[in-house]
Amino acid sequence: MSTVSTPQLRFSFLLREIENLSAVRGVRSLGMVLIRLAGLQAVNQSHGYSAGDQLLEDFGRRLRTIARPQDKVYQINGTTFAFLIHNPSHQGHAVLGAERIAREARVALELPTGRMRLSAHMGVSLMPESAADAASLLHQCERAVAESRELDEPYTVYTRELGTNLGSSSEQSAFDVDEVLQKNELELYYQPKVDLRSGRLSGAEALVRWDSPTNGIVSPGVFMPAIENSRGIHALFAFTLNAALRCACEWAHKVPDFKMAVNMSPGNLEDPDLIEAIADALGVWGLAPEQLVLEITETALMRDARTSALKLAELKALGVRLAIDDFGTGHASLSYLRDLPADELKIDRSFVAPVLSSERDRRIVGSVIQLAHAVNMEVVAEGIEDAEAMQVLLGMNCDVGQGFYFGAPIPADQFHAEWVARFAQSSKARA
Ligand code: C2E
Ligand code: MG
Ligand code: MG
Repeated sequence: MSTVSTPQLRFSFLLREIENLSAVRGVRSLGMVLIRLAGLQAVNQSHGYSAGDQLLEDFGRRLRTIARPQDKVYQINGTTFAFLIHNPSHQGHAVLGAERIAREARVALELPTGRMRLSAHMGVSLMPESAADAASLLHQCERAVAESRELDEPYTVYTRELGTNLGSSSEQSAFDVDEVLQKNELELYYQPKVDLRSGRLSGAEALVRWDSPTNGIVSPGVFMPAIENSRGIHALFAFTLNAALRCACEWAHKVPDFKMAVNMSPGNLEDPDLIEAIADALGVWGLAPEQLVLEITETALMRDARTSALKLAELKALGVRLAIDDFGTGHASLSYLRDLPADELKIDRSFVAPVLSSERDRRIVGSVIQLAHAVNMEVVAEGIEDAEAMQVLLGMNCDVGQGFYFGAPIPADQFHAEWVARFAQSSKARA
């Protein structure tokens, strides 16, 4: 068993390791437990940075004690660990690993400054049973971690066979937009977008959640695939647009220059009534078009480049803002930046996360920011998880940040209490 316990380790290194390991003769299967520790910031603040470091080291040591000689433990970007299980004897093996890790994460460390403990959220997946390659293995584990955090569970398994609540076919087929809308089970969560230079709230992104009676709060990654290519996608967009604008109409009165971002699926661009529906919703909620941001992923734009370009031009003519979401994950080329009438470029979090550890990634992100600015686009960095990353991005002249460092997506009333109230200005002060 080997441990690489350097905080400088990058995800790209982990991907190469997984690829190399899976190519070794005799390795039939690899299980991965991706572990994200939480609470370190509070420990650093209350007990000092060396206590935080000690806690991380101690956790890494305890992980090594659970690993078998052939398993591997990696520490990435400080608070993320990956535990690779060689030839898990059966699928439950990886789950047992996650359960043991969860127990280790709960163990408190005694320091002269007091007792401290961290909490962990984990995602489990297996290759080739669930993931076809290293990148999908990591991606599935990431999604499972996000789900664990969402549900506040120690771990989530990304395999259909294990009856997971992530992407399981039973859950997808149980999702019928019209039905859940009728039962009032869809809700929007809001995540803050923060102006990096001033630290002020610049807007929110509306992210849909399904409050399922059997599974609790379910993320869009689970149920969206089931409706992406159906008529349901239009009903979902109509719901998100109206629910988000209803909040925006109140919040934009309180927070200067507040913008509400709503996600669109590829299918939405094919709706002949799209422009009218957006214009109507803006009219109903009394919002100026530039207060609405429509986020569209590169991949969505690629689906039918010509229709997309035409629809985007119509949307632009309406005056709404357009954002290219998850930039860097699709196949966007320079011609996109040249031809698309987009106002915002959202750099995907897979590029943002390594800015601290990798000079190369830092340079790529820096160049993308310059490029976007050269064509008058505002740059939003997604997935900022700590103050250091935020500082690096600010130093690179990034405009807006979004991510757990500022705040996770939360329900509307909570967003109002925690964000809108904090940045509200009276109309007198604004005049
Ligand atoms: P997205 O538009 O890129 O949204 C950002 C996703 O990243 C959200 O996941 C958010 O919870 C997560 N996130 C934010 N900050 C961090 C961070 O610091 N670290 C990490 N690891 N993750 C972070 P969520 O809410 O599960 O949404 C997933 C995707 O589902 C969204 O990605 C978007 O493409 C889609 N989606 C969400 N709501 C809607 C909707 O109403 N309509 C459509 N068409 N798609 C939606
Ligand atoms: Mg988005
Ligand atoms: Mg995104």
